[in-house]
Amino acid sequence: MANSNMKHPSNAPGPFYVTSPEDPEGEGCTACTICYNAAPEFFSEDGEGYAYVSLQPQATDQVALCREQIDACPTTAIGANG
Ligand code: SF4
Repeated sequence: MANSNMKHPSNAPGPFYVTSPEDPEGEGCTACTICYNAAPEFFSEDGEGYAYVSLQPQATDQVALCREQIDACPTTAIGANG
């Protein structure tokens, strides 16, 4: 489950975020590449391939695309309650 206390430091401020790979529960990003390939306008990869939210979605269709990544993430590392 996404952990708003362990956000990747590069997340853009706002509701959507990616949980850091340092998450002690082991539920942070594992650099699977799904989210930033599916929604590159909103998710980016850092130098080690871990994801962060680079732009917060605004329009309804943008929010829907980002919510799809929440469901697609295999470690449930993406949250929308930040
Ligand atoms: S889908 Fe999840 S595990 Fe995969 S890169 Fe994105 S945040 Fe990381």
